Amino acid sequence: MKELSGLEQEFHQVLSSLQDFLSSLKEEGVEGLPLQERLPSAGKSKLLEQVRNELGECTRCKLHPHRKNIVFGTGNPEAKLVFVGEGPGGEEDIQGKPFVGPAGQLLTKIINSINLSREEVYIANIIKCRPPQNRNPEPDEIKACEPFLIKQLDAIHPKIICALGTFAAQTLLETDEKISRLRGRFIDYRNSKLIATFHPAYLLRNSQKKREVWEDMKMIRKEYSS
Ligand code: SF4
Repeated sequence: MKELSGLEQEFHQVLSSLQDFLSSLKEEGVEGLPLQERLPSAGKSKLLEQVRNELGECTRCKLHPHRKNIVFGTGNPEAKLVFVGEGPGGEEDIQGKPFVGPAGQLLTKIINSINLSREEVYIANIIKCRPPQNRNPEPDEIKACEPFLIKQLDAIHPKIICALGTFAAQTLLETDEKISRLRGRFIDYRNSKLIATFHPAYLLRNSQKKREVWEDMKMIRKEYSS
């Protein structure tokens, strides 16, 4: 057998200690280490901070000259529930925070209706800069921005993701299916459970849809507590 270098010997010692440790855990009945669940809050905050730093003063798409502020996302890095909307509106652009206008106030009420607070959840959008005249984001803008949302979701690793409105649901799920057919059920998405529901701005114009949103929220509450 070849003579081991100092570094190799050290590596073998670490490996052997790790094997001993895992054997002792197995004897105690522990079958595996739930690494994601053990990631401490500071770890998730750090990961989100890294994503924010990587985004920087982003000029990756043609929306950047129009914005006042990048709306990165706010809330609890350890959230079990993340809401994802379409993109910032006028008030969000001014404040640099998601869902702070009239639709945001309704979203706060919706969150409170399932006995949660905005501080307990995380809220973000598919794109982080306001499109001119609040038009729909275009494919090249989504292509440039969505990877950062995905990194945020992977950092938080929530149990549930709630896509707010047609645009967010169709973009995340890569489908053309209507929101009325997507809502009301959980769909597996990146190790989380995704549920789509109507956007609060749509609800402000169509109050008859509140009952369906309430049904979706009850499903979220049940899954959140299970
Ligand atoms: Fe960058 Fe996203 Fe803003 Fe485009 S929308 S400039 S990709 S942060």
